[in-house]
Amino acid sequence: MKQSHLAARTDKNAPHDAESVNAELLTRAGFVKKEMAGVYSFLPLGFRVLRKIEQIIREEMNAVGAQEGLMPVLTPRENWVKTGRATVDIGYTPTENTILSWSHEEMVTPIAKDLVRSYRDLPLCLYHIQAKFRNEPRAKSGLLRGREFIMKDAYSFHANQEDFEAYYEQMAHAYFRVFERCGLRAYRIQAGGGDFTDKFSDEFSVIAKCGEDTMIFCEKCGFAQNTEVAGTLTKGSDCPKCSAKLDETKCIEVGNIFDLGTKFSEAFDFRFADAEGKNQPVIMGCYGIGVSRLVGTIVEASSDENGMIWPHSVAPFHLHILSLKEDETAEKIVADLEQEGYEVLFDERNESPGKKFADSDLFGIPMRVVVSKRSLEQDSVEVKIRATGETKLVLMSELAQTVEDFFASKK
Ligand code: ATP
Ligand code: MG
Repeated sequence: MKQSHLAARTDKNAPHDAESVNAELLTRAGFVKKEMAGVYSFLPLGFRVLRKIEQIIREEMNAVGAQEGLMPVLTPRENWVKTGRATVDIGYTPTENTILSWSHEEMVTPIAKDLVRSYRDLPLCLYHIQAKFRNEPRAKSGLLRGREFIMKDAYSFHANQEDFEAYYEQMAHAYFRVFERCGLRAYRIQAGGGDFTDKFSDEFSVIAKCGEDTMIFCEKCGFAQNTEVAGTLTKGSDCPKCSAKLDETKCIEVGNIFDLGTKFSEAFDFRFADAEGKNQPVIMGCYGIGVSRLVGTIVEASSDENGMIWPHSVAPFHLHILSLKEDETAEKIVADLEQEGYEVLFDERNESPGKKFADSDLFGIPMRVVVSKRSLEQDSVEVKIRATGETKLVLMSELAQTVEDFFASKK
């Protein structure tokens, strides 16, 4: 991809209304555009990251047997009246007969009801990656809290509690894999059921200075509790699991999984015939990940004074090739790397080296390759690793191997 064709314009200065690191950097780099409080457009660079995160989530959802579909955001009000959630404050109401979805239990339960007749049709898990609308009073942290945002929400249906609980644990593991693949360490926190249910839920949270939540956690074994429910546990207490010292931190909730019991199946009279032919209510779980919030969280977790630092798994491109008036050689390098399957952003713009370097640091693409007259005199190019700042001259004949080794070590 030629950078002169890229739909992105970078800005040296922070937007006047940037309230958070992720909003500032993503906006300055031209990854997103703020439309109004809590509402963002994804521009091509940001969208590439979003798509990669979605793909990781997809692979891990499919691996636990969840099946992907897509439910609408404009939804019939009568479904929500059934569950008593038509008037929850967080929802927008576009007309008296419709509700812009802020969650999708009211859509998925009737869909599953059409599919499931007997215990033989269970378990079933459906998910989609779709916009949600929430009338958030404090939409002031960029992609972390949108009024329109993108969520992966999965819903599972079970014949009995035991089956549900086993699946819930499989999902929890899938969640850990998703966050790890996004370059994040998530902590699992047992919490209340929130708006969804009076049963239990588990939140998955990532350490971040700007986080709105606070947790007591054990870095060693991963034990974590919300400070509101931590009881006597405080910073410095012994971890109840491994007896290392506990610490306290601000954190961002990136995912949440819930035991829904029979709340929604009862509202829609969704029952199945068990092995004895007896009618039983279906037991449900739901599982959310803040997909667009993850984009912001990764920026909060990984940036420096010069810009963003993307983990290779979700970076908008793998390699950023900068040509300092050596377009012909650079073009050949780009073609070779693309041939090898790498995603390459090629800066062939007629800009000063300083501007090119600054934009490259801001974008945070994992590996930068500068092709200049000076380096070519030594048959070399200059390679910089964004995350470590490590810079070295690499012989042209060894570039392919250097790139391969770098990305292989990140697998
Ligand atoms: P929060 O406590 O942050 O308001 P929530 O508990 O209300 O979130 P859930 O209903 O559990 O959110 O939604 C599932 C996931 O969707 C959350 O874990 C979070 O990652 C994401 N999410 C929720 N609200 C927003 C929002 N306004 N903007 C971006 N992502 C969100
Ligand atoms: Mg939650």
